[in-house]
Amino acid sequence: MGNLLDKFGVCEMCKKPVSGSDLCIECNKIKKKAQEHALATDAASEEISEMFGIHERLIGKWIRKGEFWCKAPCRSCGKQVKGGNICDECRLRFFTELKRD
Ligand SMILES: [Zn+2]
Ligand SMILES: [Zn+2]
Repeated sequence: MGNLLDKFGVCEMCKKPVSGSDLCIECNKIKKKAQEHALATDAASEEISEMFGIHERLIGKWIRKGEFWCKAPCRSCGKQVKGGNICDECRLRFFTELKRD
């Protein structure tokens, strides 16, 4: 099932057919611009999404894959965190819970 999609992929952003890449050339340029903007202005994923027309979920995916850096809501409590998907408090809380066993 997945093999077919690997060979004949579509751009994650505009759904145009692409081969061997997640994004077409145009969308890759937009992604780069969005990344520059995020670094320059400390923008959150919501803002990037609105400005560049990139789906927030896609930005979230890039962040998780380590392909993108911007502020994003903590996946546990929703607070805006820089360059990660979980805030320091939640991280600490999870570590504490892990150590309890
Ligand atoms: Zn595209
Ligand atoms: Zn949190």
